[in-house]
Amino acid sequence: MGAEAFLVEYIMRYRLQQFLDNEEKRSIDIKKIISLEDDTLGGKIGFERGEFSFICKIDRLEELKDGTLLIIDYKTGNSANPPQKLVKLQEMEMNREDIRRRINSFQLPLYYYFVKERYPRYRVNAVLYSLKNMQISQLFKEKDRGSEEEVINYCLKALEFIISEILNPAVPFVPDDSDPRICRNCSYFYLCR
Ligand code: SF4
Repeated sequence: MGAEAFLVEYIMRYRLQQFLDNEEKRSIDIKKIISLEDDTLGGKIGFERGEFSFICKIDRLEELKDGTLLIIDYKTGNSANPPQKLVKLQEMEMNREDIRRRINSFQLPLYYYFVKERYPRYRVNAVLYSLKNMQISQLFKEKDRGSEEEVINYCLKALEFIISEILNPAVPFVPDDSDPRICRNCSYFYLCR
């Protein structure tokens, strides 16, 4: 092995230890782990243009001691953000740029939708858990507790807009090169330019 392999090993051990320390702190709130890497969640969502199928693969689903469920999505890379808070989503304009800026990713809202469908009696939150700096970002911020369905409805409306646009032959594809890091690993790089 070259010298860099030892450096990688050192960093991996360091990050894993950070993660374990953080999990030890979090463990006082956890009642049980419901599932890990569960890919059986998902289903159809009906929009104006018809029903669309979604498949979810949730890294970890926990039941907390306060009786709520917590969806965890681990992130290994750089910054990833959940959708903005409700007041910001209420200002959202229905165009690609603003949806991207305010929603960031439909992953957590879809996870929430299907977990809630399976466990309707529970209150649910979802988080992005950075394995780089142990930062945990919540889908529903403190102020939005109690307005979960409203937040999700804004996300689903935005998702419906994006799907309708994809299916509309009159709207041409436009490359989004605002973040070159994403394009760098994309299989369609030479097709979309
Ligand atoms: S290269 Fe890929 S990620 Fe980047 S704009 Fe084109 S399709 Fe989108």
